[in-house]
Amino acid sequence: MSDEANPFESLQEQIDDAAVHLDIDDGVLERLKRPERVLETNLTFERDDGSLETVRAYRSQFNGDRGPYKGGIRYHPGVTRDEVKALSGWMVYKCAVVDIPYGGGKGGIEIDPAEYSMAELERLTRSFATELRPIIGEDRDIPAPDVNTGQREMNWIKNTYETLENTTAPGVITGKAIDSGGSAGRVEATGRSTMLAARETFEWLGRDIGNATVAVQGYGNAGSIAARLLDDLGTRVVAVSDSSGGIHDPDGLDPRAVREHKSETGAVEGYSGSESITNDEVLTLDVDLLVPAALGNAIDTDLATDVSADVIVEAANGPLTPGADDVLTERGIRVVPDVFANAGGVIVSYFEWVQNRQRLHWTEERVTEELERVITEAFEGIIEAYEARDLQNLRTAAYVVAVERVANAYAQGGTWP
Ligand code: NAD
Repeated sequence: MSDEANPFESLQEQIDDAAVHLDIDDGVLERLKRPERVLETNLTFERDDGSLETVRAYRSQFNGDRGPYKGGIRYHPGVTRDEVKALSGWMVYKCAVVDIPYGGGKGGIEIDPAEYSMAELERLTRSFATELRPIIGEDRDIPAPDVNTGQREMNWIKNTYETLENTTAPGVITGKAIDSGGSAGRVEATGRSTMLAARETFEWLGRDIGNATVAVQGYGNAGSIAARLLDDLGTRVVAVSDSSGGIHDPDGLDPRAVREHKSETGAVEGYSGSESITNDEVLTLDVDLLVPAALGNAIDTDLATDVSADVIVEAANGPLTPGADDVLTERGIRVVPDVFANAGGVIVSYFEWVQNRQRLHWTEERVTEELERVITEAFEGIIEAYEARDLQNLRTAAYVVAVERVANAYAQGGTWP
């Protein structure tokens, strides 16, 4: 069964849910629910056989009241205008809830990158960067990697921008390779903020995370690093999964060894000493903590009734359908929302930008320390709103904090012209 919602409508609903608890003028609320502008463009580039191909691409700049637009660029056949709009809005509220001085943006090209050679992807990326050039910039809009893009694409975009502008502007994009101006600690950032969010939540609940059990769905960048860092706290990682299936060991898996096994064999399945279980069994296992770190809409209303974890920390973006979220709230299961828990990526992107602007490098220790400070302060803000306003769950609390910050920034600037 699927109760997936249109992502743009889900975003608007989340803002409405938060606004009920705030005193915001209706006209301003409408502004907070819609993008300021969306670029829709068609990119024509040369294939390796000399033929030309034209593909659709977007960049949505949702809200810039708190700072330059910030958000990734994805390459995926499922990219749509509505999806890009929604994702750009979530970036606004993600940056606001962790209080970094950015607005939100998102972009995408509607392609399956697996169908193109590296040279074709480079020409396409440079073509997109040329279209984006008038609207991006270190103080305007700062893209980053997203689904199917990474350091390579970011380095090409930086190079295209700097060449056309005849300048040096490493802060025009984040998620770059270290030698092109990237930051230490960026690769680990999302897994680290997930671990920190879990640690803070358990402390708030008066529970010992060092004695807890955890199941992790998805064993890529976010999931495998969160598992490793939780294991470092003493948490027992009893189950993990990837797209090929799950593995379970009630005595605890070694997350590093599972990662090595996956690198060698392509899957977590078959890891020595573990039993195979299904992906759904990983999500419904009786554990203290569940970390969904795969795709959106992983837990729907039906599955939510079978979830046995006490706490869910969302490493993935939107792993719960809106119906599942309601069921879990009713069942008293604590859900630590994605906009906060997986914000480590954008927070360290912000540190990368700060280092680029100041032309200096931070050590990995400094990045880790600053990330911990930003996450713990953001958690305090969410809990304060949750308790003081008697809100229904932590997601609403995070949106109340974030929407209020954006509305205040707009009000302080005033309406002009
Ligand atoms: P990734 O591609 O590195 O890993 C995804 C993992 O999920 C893979 O191991 C894949 O096999 C697994 N998977 C896919 N379908 C599955 C299924 N049905 N059941 C179980 N596992 C499944 O991606 P990532 O960068 O780790 O991102 C994961 C999630 O975290 C996404 O929702 C992403 O939007 C979100 N996120 C990532 C970052 C980041 O910096 N990497 C930042 C913010 C949010």
